[in-house]
Amino acid sequence: MQSHTPLQYVKGVGPKLKKPLDRLGLYTVYDCLYLFPRQYEDRRHLPRLINLQVGKIQTVVVLIEKIEEKKIKKGLSILECHIADQSGRGIATWFNQPFLKKVLKPYTQLLIKGKVDRTLFKDGVQIKVSETEVLRTAADIKEAIGKIIPKYSLTNGLYQHQMRAILKEILDTKIFFVEENFSDELRDKLNLFTIRQALTQLHRPEDEGSYQKAKYRIVFEEFLYYQLQLGRKRLLHDMEAIAEPLLTMSEYVDVYLNTVPYSLTKAQNRAIEDVKKDIQKKIPMNRLLQGDVGSGKTDVAIIALLLAVSSQKTGAIMAPTEILAMQHYIKLSRLLSSLNIDVVLLKGKMKVKEKREALTHIQSKPCIVVGTHALIQDTVLFHELGLVVIDEQHKFGVMQRLKLKKEISPHCLFMTATPIPRTFMLTAFGDLDKSIIDELPPGRLPAKTFFIKGDNAEKAYEKCRESLQLGRQLYVVFPLVEESEKLDLISAEEGFESIKDIYPDFKVGIIHGRLKSDEKTAVMAAFKKGETDILVATTVIEVGLDVPNATMMIIHHAERFGLSQLHQLRGRIGRGTQQSECFLIGVPKTDNGIKRIKAMVETTDGFKLAEYDLQIRGPGDMLGTRQAGLPDFHLGDIVRDEKILIIARHVATALLKEDPLLSDSKHAKIRTHLDGIKNRLMEDALN
Ligand code: ADP
Ligand code: MG
Repeated sequence: MQSHTPLQYVKGVGPKLKKPLDRLGLYTVYDCLYLFPRQYEDRRHLPRLINLQVGKIQTVVVLIEKIEEKKIKKGLSILECHIADQSGRGIATWFNQPFLKKVLKPYTQLLIKGKVDRTLFKDGVQIKVSETEVLRTAADIKEAIGKIIPKYSLTNGLYQHQMRAILKEILDTKIFFVEENFSDELRDKLNLFTIRQALTQLHRPEDEGSYQKAKYRIVFEEFLYYQLQLGRKRLLHDMEAIAEPLLTMSEYVDVYLNTVPYSLTKAQNRAIEDVKKDIQKKIPMNRLLQGDVGSGKTDVAIIALLLAVSSQKTGAIMAPTEILAMQHYIKLSRLLSSLNIDVVLLKGKMKVKEKREALTHIQSKPCIVVGTHALIQDTVLFHELGLVVIDEQHKFGVMQRLKLKKEISPHCLFMTATPIPRTFMLTAFGDLDKSIIDELPPGRLPAKTFFIKGDNAEKAYEKCRESLQLGRQLYVVFPLVEESEKLDLISAEEGFESIKDIYPDFKVGIIHGRLKSDEKTAVMAAFKKGETDILVATTVIEVGLDVPNATMMIIHHAERFGLSQLHQLRGRIGRGTQQSECFLIGVPKTDNGIKRIKAMVETTDGFKLAEYDLQIRGPGDMLGTRQAGLPDFHLGDIVRDEKILIIARHVATALLKEDPLLSDSKHAKIRTHLDGIKNRLMEDALN
């Protein structure tokens, strides 16, 4: 039996089972082997009736002595059996399963699992049965008891014992069924099970130890191949991608640094040095710049862009939202006005004429281009694109990241405020070099955060009034734009009206995703200039906005937001030297909602919050599995199995170092497998 053998060739799989198996996506022997049990039940030492513990859910093997059916009322029936084993007697009951009458006959041997109660009368016990297995033959008994039993996630029409039988059939076949991808040498070195041992032990573990060892082997394999893919991609990138080296000194940079009213932090300078080291090479820079909100990443970006322009190349900066692109555009135009560098804006929605002009400009001479993802459309031709900055990189997918690759690749700087947890750096972002800005500009005070129960919102409004009177500004965030009937939430538009009533003597603006882009720009500009005191907003303000005088934020329905979103939102305040305050208003109902708010109140450390987010939500959810470029591992979990991930990474790195093309015959197995498996990252790159 081969791993690709269709399941109908497995003994015992008749046409009746085909449908449920199909429904589970199980077509071949391989599919079944890799459907790992969702849990196990230890049936090595089952209790006797006399030893059952009241109140617990337990499993026993019994003989039926007598059976009675009781109809309590319409739609409720009970089957009650007198049961016995060598130790004693008892009662077993089944609710509403009249069809079991056919199998529950006197002298039938059964395995039953259920909650144990005392009987009303004698000393015996009563079991409310939740699982039943009929043991007709010696073979049935051998399969069902005296061992650890796997439990699968199944579907209607397929029973646990049937699935166990299918796997028994597959696993007992003496013929080789799954390719062993690892050499004996590697297995010996790492003390790994063979693939056959591993699969067997996962479906029918002898004991905890061999189960762990089996799991280790499978997870290690998944991680190793993933790491090899990443490693190869990295090698190819370094070997094949060619970039134009850029200058690392420039008058522009000197002038810029003299223009800004502060000196850069040590961490900012370190990041700039890292960038300089990269861009003077012929290998494209591929660097992630991670720094908490407000840490001053924009300055690093600006310097990189200036170096590109000094080298007679185009420098581009790409932002995830129009608002942020606009803000970068305004900031750069202002800061660079004395330098005589053209700054061009390019976004999705633009007047035809403006767009044409922008495109022509971009094509004809080096400049700094600011835009949204409109920048990576194929219609945009650059005059020698030398460097690209991708701001708030976590908002872009791996796919978009790779789309930037052209024959001559630009140097790429990815910036993010969402700290990428270590495990992610070992996986989806494993191909990036990394710089961290771990220091905020001096004088910054972390925002104080308060939780206020839903109906006490006035407290927050009162606190903010004091600061408004001192000339500070306030953000009020709502989760939605319009009134929504289904959800019991205040929308931004409703909120806008009530905020105007609450603060009649202050000017209030509103911004959300549905506004036209020149409307957004006008609203933002007014807030930035201090013409409005309060900005009512949706999460469109989540990333990048920079108004240092805005020191207060009220977030309504805070329990509705994810942790990293809350952190990003809060990052809009605390950008000046004034103490800022964030009020989270809400009625958290779920455990996770409470945990998130608690975490927000306790810390402003983005890294801690991200690790925390990863724990409560899991990696897939956090960045979106696909977006993060993570494959669907069968068994591996990059957070839970981080230790294995690290070992797999070491092994992969060593392997590729020793034999980059894996051409040595002793690596033949690994190479064949690697070439054969679906390579999601490569596929994306080709799309
Ligand atoms: P982020 O890393 O979130 O993108 P920004 O680059 O927007 O942060 O910087 C936040 C604010 O801090 C801006 O107003 C910026 O001008 C200011 N800033 C940046 N670097 C420094 C510094 N070294 N000293 C003082 N202020 C700085
Ligand atoms: Mg920023």
